Formats: sequence, structure tokens, C-alpha cells
Amino acid sequence: MNAPTSMDLAARSLRSVWHPCTQMRRHEDMPPIAVARGHGPWLYDADGRRYFDAISSWWVNLFGHTNARINRALVDQLERLEHAMLAGFTHEPVVALSEKLSALTGHALGRCFYASDGASAVEIALKMSVHAWRNAGHGAKTEFICVAGGYHGETLGALGVTDTALFRAPYESMLRPAHIAASPDARHALPGEGAAEVAARALADMERLLQERHGQVAAVIVEPLVQCAAGMAMHDAAYVAGLRALCDAYGAHLIADEIAVGCGRSGSFFACEQAGVWPDFLCLSKGISGGYLPLSLVMTQEYVYQAFYDDDVRRGFLHSHSYTGNPLACRAALETLAIFEDEQVLERNRGLAQAMERALQPLAQDARIARPRRTGMIWACDARLDDPADAGAFSRRFAQEAARRELLLRPIGNTLYLMPPYILGEEDVQWLAARVHEVFDTVMEAA
Ligand SMILES: *Cc1c(COP(=O)(O)O)cnc(C)c1O
Repeated sequence: MNAPTSMDLAARSLRSVWHPCTQMRRHEDMPPIAVARGHGPWLYDADGRRYFDAISSWWVNLFGHTNARINRALVDQLERLEHAMLAGFTHEPVVALSEKLSALTGHALGRCFYASDGASAVEIALKMSVHAWRNAGHGAKTEFICVAGGYHGETLGALGVTDTALFRAPYESMLRPAHIAASPDARHALPGEGAAEVAARALADMERLLQERHGQVAAVIVEPLVQCAAGMAMHDAAYVAGLRALCDAYGAHLIADEIAVGCGRSGSFFACEQAGVWPDFLCLSKGISGGYLPLSLVMTQEYVYQAFYDDDVRRGFLHSHSYTGNPLACRAALETLAIFEDEQVLERNRGLAQAMERALQPLAQDARIARPRRTGMIWACDARLDDPADAGAFSRRFAQEAARRELLLRPIGNTLYLMPPYILGEEDVQWLAARVHEVFDTVMEAA
């Protein structure tokens, strides 16, 4: 029997699979691509066509597909232990991973609580914050402040602190509203202003909210340095340092959602390092398993842990997920951290990110482009469209044209961005930059 073709699989998929983040009717024009295998930055469909994964498969893949080291580690782990419950039991991968991550924060965030996806990590941080305040005798502190345009996931608690109208609207009646503070997005700079001035204004707005509501506010949640889903909105690190100071002054926890920007994406292993501060809670997911397996965690400080440590079971943090601390996922994460160390990835990425920026200079200088920007291994710019209402159509046309030219690249509205795996060579960078520009030319000429 012949292997199914990409078209066969796409047709079957559309009869049985409900795809995420998709108006399924749109697939009438553009069927899903059936991926058969992957290697390095490349994905190959069932017909052998290739696609360069320029967005790391939704920002998760750090060291390429079917990475030899992570594969070997997982095969070894499979033969030892695939899974065991983490209540009442423990295992080496989860212990070693927690120790390693704690060490990466200089043991400032020495306690790791595990889940499987990013939204769950956000839920855990929100619940831990409220419960810690309650255990400390501050039961009125149950509200949250989030940042305009921020994204923290799609489960109800996470969506409650997410400011994306499109994702929220149908469920508004189920959500507990959060306070929304002004965004430090450097693109909001007025004439003569820089990122620092925008950050200062956003901090002033945050202070206004904390002044009014500090008796009720449990935590401020932020995506440090880059609000990714908002369209790679980048801000000054001083904003994060300023938030830390405000949270200390007004008695609120600081939750750093590093699900997208963590694991080296921002240029440092944790984005918060660039602000020189640690949050009370730090959420990790996406890249932590190298893009192999669902894994998320919340790292927190010893004083938070101590607020739950008691003879009374009700003061404990009783949250759980079936696959908490899955050994395979933890082993993939451990190997990911080992690659960072052995291959000096953060240093190497500095050169790679600069090479990317240089190669993208012609596009950055294109008159149809605005606000080219970069933080670590995230490069972004905004297409100038005659009518902003065309952003959705631009994004779809771009993704379609990119796929025709061997490129997996899906703009967010009119924001075109690259978030590639950390394994590109000089040739990959040149090829990628040229292809992106070609696709952009084609899409803009057709508009
Ligand atoms: C992706 C993302 C999440 C949600 O993670 P899921 O694994 O998709 O639930 C939360 N916060 C940020 C900043 C993200 O980028």
C-alpha cells in the first residue's frame, strides 16, 4: 500500500480533526500541510516538500527537529521509566531538572511546581499567589493586574489576564476581569521619545492602579521584554525592574510569564536577568523541553513555599495534573539545558542574532516596512498597509505564499517576525532572509 499523500491526509484531517486557533472554513482555500518528518530547521510533508521552520513550530523548538542528543536521551529514558505519579513519588529527571533550573536563578527561585502546558503554569501562578496571600492573612488580595495586549493562555484563569479581544469575546461572561495597565510597547513612543520614556509612562499607569487597588491586588502578571502574541511588542528592561520596585512598594507579587521569552529566546536564559530582578513566580514552558513534549513549570521563592508549609492540609497547594513532572518531558528538558551548557548556546546566539539582523537589513530598510526590531532571537517588523483592516488578509496571504516557497512563517496581523531554532548556520541565515524578502515582495505586489 502506498503511503498517504499530503492531500489525502489533509482531507482526512479536515473530516476528523478540529485544528487549534483556526476558523476551519479557511481551510477550504488552504488545506493543512501534512508533516511526515522533520530534521534540523526543516519539516518535510508527506510528498517530500520541505518547509523551513522559521517560527520554531509555535516558538517551542530550540535545537531543531529530531535533534540527535535529545532523541538519544529520550530513548534512554523510555527504557528506564516513561511515567510515574509525582504525588508521593519522585524520580531523577524531575529532581535534576529542578536543581538545574534553581541554580540558573542563583537559587533565588528554588522551588519548581510542574504542569504540562503554558496556560496551566499561568493558572498555577495565579492560584499560588492568591493562596499565599490568604495563608498570610490577606484573604482580600484576589485581584490581578495585567498589561494591555498581554497574552497568557486560553484556559479561563489565563484568559482572564489576557488582553486579546478576539480570544476573549465569546467567553467574556465566564471570565473574572483583571485590571489592565498601559503597555510599555516601545512602538508607542511619541515624537522625540525612546523606549525608556514609554516604559516610564507605563510604570506610572501601573502605579496609579496599585495605589487604588493594592489592598485587593494579589499579583501583577507580565511578559518580560517581549509581549509576543501582541505582535512582538518589545519594551525597555527598565520596565521590568520598575515593576519589581512597584510590587515591593505596594505589596503585590510579580509573575513573570517567560513561557515564550524564556530559555534563551530574549538573549539571556531568563528575560528577567536583563532587568536584574527576580519575580515571585516565573512561568516556563514552550522551549523548556526543546519542543519535544508538553512540559511547564512555575518557579517560586522560598518565602512563598514557606507560606504553604504547615500541618494543616488546607494550607497546602493541592493543585495537580495527571502528567505532572512527566519523566520523559523532564529528561528532554534536562538534555536541552545540557545543550545550552555544552555548546555555549547563549554566546553563540549573540553572533547568530546579529547575523540575522544584518541579513535582514535590506528588508528592514524597505519603505513598505516600519519599526524593524529585535530582542535576542526574535526579529520583527510591521508591514505598512494602506488599510489596517487588511492585516488579517495580509497575514493569511503571507503564510500561504511562504509555504509555496518552502517557508513556515505566519505573521501576527501585519507583524512579520522570525523566531527560528538556535541552530542556523550562515547559509541558513542568508537563505532565510532572502526568502522572507521575496515572499514579502510578492504579497505586497499582489495587494
Ligand atoms: C504560549 C503562551 C502561553 C500559553 O502556553 P500554552 O502551552 O499554549 O498553553 C502563555 N503565555 C505566553 C507568553 C505564551 O506565549
